Amino acid sequence: MLPAFTPNRGITSHPRQAIRCPNCGSPAERYYLLESQLTRTQCPTCDYLMVTCSRTGNVVEAYSPGLYGYPH
Ligand SMILES: [Zn+2]
Repeated sequence: MLPAFTPNRGITSHPRQAIRCPNCGSPAERYYLLESQLTRTQCPTCDYLMVTCSRTGNVVEAYSPGLYGYPH
């Protein structure tokens, strides 16, 4: 009997949540890095990146390509 779901015990074990990118609105993903208490939001479409501390809510790292490459 094959298991329907085999959890990975490695780096891919972080809980994931499908969200909308706040930068471009495309489907993006939010990862919960439990051991470091960080929440990482990333968008593969526009390279948006946001890392916040889930304990304090502080922004640890943020990268929004729209702020830099916005057409004038
Ligand atoms: Zn995006």
